[in-house]
Amino acid sequence: MLDQFNRNITYLRISVTDRCNLRCHYCMPAEGVQWIPHNSILSFEEITEVVKVAVGMGVNKIRLTGGEPLVRKGIVDLIKMMSGIPGVEDLAMTTNGILLEKYAADLAAAGLKRVNVSLDTLDPEKYNKLTRGGDMAQVMKGIDAAVDAGLLPVKINCVQTAQTTSEEKEQLRDFCEARGFKLRFIRQMSLTDGSFYPVEGGDGGRCSICNRIRLTAKGDVVPCLFSDYGYNVREYGIEEAILKAVGKKPATGHKNNVNAFYNIGG
Ligand code: SF4
Repeated sequence: MLDQFNRNITYLRISVTDRCNLRCHYCMPAEGVQWIPHNSILSFEEITEVVKVAVGMGVNKIRLTGGEPLVRKGIVDLIKMMSGIPGVEDLAMTTNGILLEKYAADLAAAGLKRVNVSLDTLDPEKYNKLTRGGDMAQVMKGIDAAVDAGLLPVKINCVQTAQTTSEEKEQLRDFCEARGFKLRFIRQMSLTDGSFYPVEGGDGGRCSICNRIRLTAKGDVVPCLFSDYGYNVREYGIEEAILKAVGKKPATGHKNNVNAFYNIGG
C-alpha cells in the first residue's frame, strides 16, 4: 500500500510489551514506569490477526520489539502463529539478548528468521552501568546461541550517546567484522523534541524512503515514530486503523509526545 508520498508501506514493527528486564539510562527510569495493564495488551490472537490483515494490504516484513520482546510470556508461540501466515517474507526480532541463550533454538524452530541485538559497548562494567544491572556475558552467550540456531544475519544495534567513545565504536566494528555481524549505530534520539538521525548501517530515520508503520502493545497503529497519531485496532477495526495510520504518515517525522521508546519499540 502506498502512502500519500508514494512510499510503499511493507514493514510492520510490533511492540509486544512495554516491559523490560533492563533499565537503560536513555530509555527508562530506574524504578520502571507505569506498565500497560494486562487487559489493554493485545493477545497473540489479536496480534496475529493484525499481521494477517496487514499482509493482505501489502506488508511482508514483520519485526517484534518491546520493551524487551523475550519477557513476553509465550513469545515462541506467537512466532509460531506468525511464521505460518502466507506473505510474511521476513520475520525478525530486536532484543537486548539477555534471554536469547534460553530461547534462540526455540525461536528459530518456530520460524523466526533473524535477530538484532542491542549492544552499546563491549566494556562489561560500562554495560552493567548503562543498563542498570545487565550482564554483558549473558548477551554474548545469547549472540552465540543465535548464531548456532541460524538466526542470521545477526545485526548489532549500538545506541550512540554522548558517552560513546570512538574507541568503543572501533571495538564494536572490529567485533562485528570478526564475527560477520552487521553493525548499526543509532544516534540517541528524543521523541519529545523531535531529534532523530538516519541509522548508520540501516534504513531507519530516512523519511523519504520510509516503508514502516508500528503497532504498539495496546493496539495503536502508529504512522511514524515521530508522530502523535495512533489508531487503535480494537476501536477502529484492523483495516481501518491501518488505513488511517498510513493516511496520516508524515513526509518526515516531527515529534511524539504520546509514546516512549519502551512502548513503541524504537
Ligand atoms: S521519522 Fe517517521 S517517516 Fe521518518 S523514517 Fe522514522 S518513522 Fe519513517
